[in-house]
Amino acid sequence: MMRDLVDFLHEIGPVLDAAIVYYVIYRVLLLIKGTRAVPMLIGLLALIVLYFLSQDAFLGLPTFNWLLEKFIGSLFLIIVVVFQADIRRALVAFGGAQFFSNFRSASEAQVLDELVKVCVQLAGQRIGALIIIERDANLDAYMEESVKLDARVSKELLHAVFVPERQNPLHDGAVVVRSGRVAAAGVFLPMSVNPQNDRALGTRHRAAIGLSEETDAVVLVVSEERGTVSVALDGRLERDLTGQALRDRLTELLIRKPTRFTRRPGGTPARGTPAPPRPDASEPPPPSPPS
Ligand code: ATP
Ligand code: MG
Repeated sequence: MMRDLVDFLHEIGPVLDAAIVYYVIYRVLLLIKGTRAVPMLIGLLALIVLYFLSQDAFLGLPTFNWLLEKFIGSLFLIIVVVFQADIRRALVAFGGAQFFSNFRSASEAQVLDELVKVCVQLAGQRIGALIIIERDANLDAYMEESVKLDARVSKELLHAVFVPERQNPLHDGAVVVRSGRVAAAGVFLPMSVNPQNDRALGTRHRAAIGLSEETDAVVLVVSEERGTVSVALDGRLERDLTGQALRDRLTELLIRKPTRFTRRPGGTPARGTPAPPRPDASEPPPPSPPS
């Protein structure tokens, strides 16, 4: 009986092995999809191809081959350094049930609450603001010139950052929220040049759209001119959200718990169901509602 089981396990061993590797690669690809890790990975693959091409059997470029060999010899180390943040995120994701959640701590609802409250408050006082919530794509590249912080998200702090005083240089630019903490302020964002954008949009809104075109971050924009809150996501602007609409949208985007089977009364899926697939980037955004 025991022997049969061992034989059986030996027999399915290779299949199991392949299935596990397939699953791991699949999960890794899902995790890095749309992030900056993709171009880096392509770069590394290109170097490996060059290494093989430069061998004697093909082009025969010994010195170049030697150089690439030394580089590829340390590939493991290089991958660990370059993808540090991604690896950390992947391990956290594998370890925790909330594969998609970006707010690690139990206080995620509280963080979200502070964000909604400060946006509503700033909008009421007509103080402009840009708050970026980092998701899968690492935003380090945009934060290089910024002022690094590591602070609890509170509406008081965020309010203070955006007060438009001449003596407060931080108010110009965006704040980054990473893993439920304020990670940086005074962040300068790439401007969207999409001709489909509403021409009336100013630079703050274009900057929000710009970042959301390049990454999967959720960008909250408070308009100083109109006293409204909008969300930029996937290159589109969801304009003029009420406090409740903002809360619902952020809950949906940031706190996706595996509650697929719970339904709200009335049969609509509960909050927390996975969002619909991201639209194709080539698809033009829908016309924005008249303001
Ligand atoms: P509002 O509705 O608040 O007036 P807007 O979209 O009309 O916003 P502007 O009036 O041009 O935009 O807002 C200018 C402010 O937006 C700047 O003072 C700065 O704080 C912020 N801003 C503009 N461009 C960027 C950028 N690339 N990155 C970060 N912040 C920016
Ligand atoms: Mg303006």
